[in-house]
Amino acid sequence: MARGAGPRLPTDRAALVRPKAIATCDLDALIVSGEAPSPPPFPLGHECVAEVVELGDAVSSLVPGQLVSVPFQISCGECAACRRGHTGNCSSVPFMSTYGFGPAVERWGGFLSDLVCVPYADHMLVPVPDGHQPAAVASASDNISDAWRAVAPALAEDPGAAVLVLGGAGPGSIGLFAAAVAIALGAESVLYLDADHARRQTAAALGARTLAEVPERIGPFPITVDASGDPNGLQLALNATAPDGICTSTAIYFAEQPVLPLLRMYAQCVTFKTGRAHAWPAIPQVLALVVAGALHPEAATTRTVPFDQAAQALLEPGWTKLVFER
Ligand SMILES: [Zn+2]
Ligand SMILES: [Zn+2]
Repeated sequence: MARGAGPRLPTDRAALVRPKAIATCDLDALIVSGEAPSPPPFPLGHECVAEVVELGDAVSSLVPGQLVSVPFQISCGECAACRRGHTGNCSSVPFMSTYGFGPAVERWGGFLSDLVCVPYADHMLVPVPDGHQPAAVASASDNISDAWRAVAPALAEDPGAAVLVLGGAGPGSIGLFAAAVAIALGAESVLYLDADHARRQTAAALGARTLAEVPERIGPFPITVDASGDPNGLQLALNATAPDGICTSTAIYFAEQPVLPLLRMYAQCVTFKTGRAHAWPAIPQVLALVVAGALHPEAATTRTVPFDQAAQALLEPGWTKLVFER
């Protein structure tokens, strides 16, 4: 098909998709404010639900017009890392090949665009079931899936366990999503700590108990999540993790290198996990929770904004999650 400027299908396994609902990632706030390591300008946006526009001849599982969740990481689905679900470390593409930021952003662009190229369409694109508002699940591409990995594997090991979430990193959606997913998966209780009043209100509406003041000591909890981005928050989460418990940090510590209470962690057999989330394997799990009516990610949305007002809205302070719709 003849086209003007814009992406074309590079191979017969690729698709072109049109982002319909694009959400901010918590990282986007830091990119816009210049606090992230790579300063803009570059094409922004790496969470979206998109509509399939054009498919290569070898793509068999999708049809034009279908709504899909687009994982923020490029992955082939066939290399050793992808076969283990470690799609954020796909070896078929350069390290950290993502949309919307990172070393490969000029190649892949961002989701605040008219068209986006998805190179391994059959593998990467996750169909969004009928009846779902694209805006509600736009963050499945990254932040909800990031939150899912912080609580779901630990709750599978210890069903019904109590969960502590320290929220607040950047605009703070990941901590809210972690609380929401833990509740959706049947945690007996979720305690959400955050100094921010609005986010505490959201967490309470989702069913979490909330605390504004960070206590000296708290817990222990079998499952803890550091989504605070504050070295003291990480310390608190680790010290609040029960013997044989699991603490997962979703926060990125760009500058400050937190000191870990390693002797206590050793003595109490505490497992600590951190790292970039592998989004693709989590997306179907997230969508299934939404379809089942157990998870309501739209509760974390500050507001939805028309696509053509995205640039202005990004510069206004005070949002936790913006969703741009066309
Ligand atoms: Zn992100
Ligand atoms: Zn791969």
